[in-house]
Amino acid sequence: MPLELVTLPALADNYTYLVHDPQSGSTAVIDVPEAAPISAALTARGWTLTDVWLTHHHYDHVDGLPDLLARHPAQVTGAAADAHRLPALDRQVTDGETFSFGGEVVQVLDVSGHTVGHVAFYLPDSAIVFTADSLMAMGCGRLFEGTAEQMWQSLSKLAALPAETTVCSGHEYTTGNMKFALTVDPGNLLLTSRADEVSKLRAKGAPTVPSILSDELATNPFLRAADPGIRAHLGMETASDAEVFAEIRARKDNF
Ligand code: ZN
Ligand code: FE
Repeated sequence: MPLELVTLPALADNYTYLVHDPQSGSTAVIDVPEAAPISAALTARGWTLTDVWLTHHHYDHVDGLPDLLARHPAQVTGAAADAHRLPALDRQVTDGETFSFGGEVVQVLDVSGHTVGHVAFYLPDSAIVFTADSLMAMGCGRLFEGTAEQMWQSLSKLAALPAETTVCSGHEYTTGNMKFALTVDPGNLLLTSRADEVSKLRAKGAPTVPSILSDELATNPFLRAADPGIRAHLGMETASDAEVFAEIRARKDNF
């Protein structure tokens, strides 16, 4: 039986996700911006929370945890590298490590850049990756702690996953990301058609996540540093991919 995936808006523009294995009854939540929407979704479905997977230490990803655990005790997993500044962890994980969830394998990927110690959780059997503030829909997280080179390595790791992978990211930033993407990649027809879809979804108040990795590869400028059109537009034909990425990231910071 396939896993069930639920996308839950939280706070002003965060997303948290439930993943449920009907076979074993295991249910994980990925990041806890606030407890209420998660608790309500669990109750509505009659699911028992078993796991919390934390991607990084920022308040909008962890602050709801004490309230959530008070009502829904569960095993908390997060990066060993960040254990000193994450809430108390029951399981500390490192890059490349795997653990099991129901009948599935979960692979931990270090995706440092937005923060150092940010991890993604990848479920190869279901082709789902939880990326939070690393890879986002048509965007990527701001570089608060890591270098552009580090973020480029992290995004390259995610870009190498199977193209059909479902990308579950942490924020509804897609409209701003899309407007920026159009300024660096204006000749990209797949981007303009995705921008239309995003505008229609947002007009209805619908989420633009999760997204599919193949769409990110085709339209997310932060994955497209090797693209000749973008390089020509930036006048960076001979630069390294990491340098082109750094320039795109810097432009977005000032957009
Ligand atoms: Zn963050
Ligand atoms: Fe965030």
